[in-house]
Amino acid sequence: MKQNWKKIVSVVLIFAFAMSVCGITHASALTNDSIKQKEADIQKAQDEKKILQQGLSDVQKLVKELEASKENLATYVVELDGKLNTIQEKIEELQGLIDTKEEEIETTTMQLKEAVATEEAQYEAMKMRIKFMYERGESFYLEMILSADSFGEILNKADYVEQLSQYDREQLQKFQQTRQAVEECKALLEEQKATLAEAQTALENEQSSVQTLIATKEKEIRAYENDIDNKEAAIKEYEAEIAAQNAEIAELERQVAEEKKRLAAANKSAIIYDGGQFKWPAPAYTRISDDYGNRIHPILKVPQFHNGIDMAAPGGSPILAAYDGEVVAATYNGSMGNYVMIDHGGGLYTIYMHASALYVSKGQVVTKGQKIAAVGTTGRSTGNHLHFSVRLNGSYVNPWNYLSS
Ligand SMILES: [Zn+2]
Repeated sequence: MKQNWKKIVSVVLIFAFAMSVCGITHASALTNDSIKQKEADIQKAQDEKKILQQGLSDVQKLVKELEASKENLATYVVELDGKLNTIQEKIEELQGLIDTKEEEIETTTMQLKEAVATEEAQYEAMKMRIKFMYERGESFYLEMILSADSFGEILNKADYVEQLSQYDREQLQKFQQTRQAVEECKALLEEQKATLAEAQTALENEQSSVQTLIATKEKEIRAYENDIDNKEAAIKEYEAEIAAQNAEIAELERQVAEEKKRLAAANKSAIIYDGGQFKWPAPAYTRISDDYGNRIHPILKVPQFHNGIDMAAPGGSPILAAYDGEVVAATYNGSMGNYVMIDHGGGLYTIYMHASALYVSKGQVVTKGQKIAAVGTTGRSTGNHLHFSVRLNGSYVNPWNYLSS
């Protein structure tokens, strides 16, 4: 545009017609304060990039730490899940940052578009004004323009040309401000896009860290269970883990029953199950990897009662509440991993195990189909899946009684 300026002025002058001065579009958003704000935003985006680079998980170091502290499979799994949970939190943070950046980029793009439109409108108005002044015989306008090497110089000269009216001086200053705002918007947009790219790379890195840790864990569980010398111990440990799971769940049920007695004494109503059908809790599932009932444990090769349905699904895919109810537990356990237990009333409970993330907390009321967690492979688990159990009056029942396939 700098090079075109003189040309445009000449063209305008050659085709000069008597015209009135055009009103100049004022961009209310373009003030020195808003430019300063943009500069602060650029600094913020640069800081975010630095933090992203520093915050990446070093899986190699994590695995070494885990190996050093490994005493038995159970503690190893708990420690590994702790690292997994930390990385998962980081992933959610990064996802949040990416969403925010995308919104910011949208806003800045809009502001840039507005500033460019204002710049063009002001420029057009100034051309008109020059034409008008030239026709009135104010030749110093033309001299000022023709003697300047660049448009920037015109703007500088305008400050010193005494004959220039206060009005024109103001218009030129406004135009200069708009140009600066355009430049700031462009710079900010570039910073925001760089931060977004940085966050996306960091997210991919963290996701591959999760994959590496999960693979390490699965290898470890399989190796342990395959080891003939350990087999007996592995079976005992597995059974002890299931017994501990059941004890934890029974204790939760006991607490709920007690609370309900208190509510009844105070004449307050408790949740009542109306007999409706469940919503399929893992909509992204690909197959039933292990059904409810008696089976031979796939690795330990011993008969085992499987108290739920295993739904194989991608890590991070949604887990939904099967029915309306109240969250009794949303926490971590060494064998169940991150799990959620929901009370539906009438002694009916659903349990969701091995989640990578939990989105509800104890005491929360949830509705059928609400997203409560994400599929994962925490706890005693090899591979991403949802273990879904249903309990009625203190024992496991067949979930298929409540689900339609
Ligand atoms: Zn299972």
